[in-house]
Amino acid sequence: MATKAFGSTRTMQSIRRQPTRRTVKANVASRKPHDSSSSSSPAAAASDATKKTSLWSQLGYSNLENTIGGNYDYCDLPPPWEVGTETAILESFDDMMGVFQRDAHEPEFLQAVREVLASVGPLLEKEPEKIATFRRILEPERVIMFRVPWIDDEGKQRVNRGFRVQLNSALGPYKGGLRFHPSVNLSILKFLAFEQAFKNALTGLPLGAGKGGADFDPKGKSDNEIMRFCQSYMTELCRHIGPRTDVPAGDIGVGGREIGYMYGQYKRIVGRFDAGVLTGKSMSFGGSNIRPEATGYGLVYFVDQMVTRSDIAPSLKGLRCALSGSGNVALFAAEKLLHFGAIPQTFSDSNGTLYCEKGFTEEDLEMLTELKNVKRGRLSELADVEGFEYFHGSKPWSVASFDAALPCATQNEVDLEDAEALVKSGVMVVAEGANMPSTPEAIAHFEENNVQFGPGKAANAGGVAVSGLEMAQNSMGIQWSREEVEERLRQIMVSIYDKCSEGSKMVDGGSLRMGADIMGFVRVAEAMEQQGLV
Ligand code: NAP
Repeated sequence: MATKAFGSTRTMQSIRRQPTRRTVKANVASRKPHDSSSSSSPAAAASDATKKTSLWSQLGYSNLENTIGGNYDYCDLPPPWEVGTETAILESFDDMMGVFQRDAHEPEFLQAVREVLASVGPLLEKEPEKIATFRRILEPERVIMFRVPWIDDEGKQRVNRGFRVQLNSALGPYKGGLRFHPSVNLSILKFLAFEQAFKNALTGLPLGAGKGGADFDPKGKSDNEIMRFCQSYMTELCRHIGPRTDVPAGDIGVGGREIGYMYGQYKRIVGRFDAGVLTGKSMSFGGSNIRPEATGYGLVYFVDQMVTRSDIAPSLKGLRCALSGSGNVALFAAEKLLHFGAIPQTFSDSNGTLYCEKGFTEEDLEMLTELKNVKRGRLSELADVEGFEYFHGSKPWSVASFDAALPCATQNEVDLEDAEALVKSGVMVVAEGANMPSTPEAIAHFEENNVQFGPGKAANAGGVAVSGLEMAQNSMGIQWSREEVEERLRQIMVSIYDKCSEGSKMVDGGSLRMGADIMGFVRVAEAMEQQGLV
């Protein structure tokens, strides 16, 4: 794709976040009710230049920033008279902005939309025909919601709610993980699927975007209960997935054990060994080397690019790192940090933070993996180990001073207060292992203080990248060596950094965050436009 400079000074001043924090209430009351099937905006008035301002307010955007809410100034998106006066453009702009009313009850989804809109605003201004494409991405191709009944160990009937959001198949089969966590709802899965679309595009692989899961809490459940739940969940899901249709993987609460149970049930129902229907499988039945490690390893390869190419340091050696979470992403990120000579100093779970000033060693990681994956225990159980300190109820960000922070637990786990603590302690790099772990206010604070910020869409794309490689191996019926998969992963992470960097130069004052959104969006949008209105 040709590189274009499309940021005007006006636009970039307006898309930059305000340095001061503002409380902005969504002022949707002044906005006329939105009709999602056809826009009935008074666009016909557009040709009359003298009515520009009143047209803007007739469209309901008298105060656009208030309309969409949030702490961004970017959303001074092009007023309709600047993007052109054609009726179609006005209508699609109006239609696109309608998401903030239509999905007002989905805060995580709207947060993710705002973030991407913040970055691609200048592109939409230059190429207003893309507004209609952006609007289409906001609507999942399909959402499946279903009952998941199962029997617990006491013989009691239980019911959970299962989901699969099939967001976009322009680049390939729907691809994205399954999350089992009590907080799961449609807003969270739509935000995750939306992020996934741009992330998957950045990998350069033929992967569409989806996400799914259930509001099931695996904590404290026996193996048999987990198996019965997974089998019931797959009994419905199997009708909607397939190696060329939709290929789920793991996410929070779904690891190798759950993928194994779900694959077994899928195979039993369809009567075929379709290994390519799920990724993250065990090596014994079609899994890929390095898939469990991929998100964490990929994150550290990305951090290496951030540190060495922005001249923060010549290498990661000696970098004191705070990690949150103690699951798949956090533990393998720590392992790769050790390979690079960095010092992983914290892990956390939803009860507290474990800190080791000297840095966790390979042996400590083995003990932690055993605790989390075999004993299914809590970090607090290690509070008395010599050299460890446990902070009950605390997040990692303020327990000590760090050079780098790698949030690897969940969405919105780094808020403004955490960002302030990190900046005060001298943090130089923040890279997101989790999806959307930083709130908009936290990101603004990092960027205002020149902290290198690696957005999750780019920094944690290693997992889905190796899932793509697992699909390729399954379709060829082969298994690449550890070294081969890891080298491919490394190359993909370097190329994602290159794309983000290229994208950041396409707008004045661009950042890796904006570059990731722009380059991801452009790839998805081009494919969608070439495939017609579907
Ligand atoms: P995981 O193995 O289930 O581990 C999740 C970790 O995060 C656990 O330590 C968990 O602690 C903690 N956590 C979850 N919800 C929390 C909350 N509300 N507050 C505090 N801690 C919480 O999951 P994972 O695969 O590592 O995924 C972690 C993040 O990375 C998620 O955002 C996921 O979407 C993202 N991600 C994962 C992959 C992948 O390949 N797995 C790929 C890309 C992105 P508790 O045990 O106390 O809940």
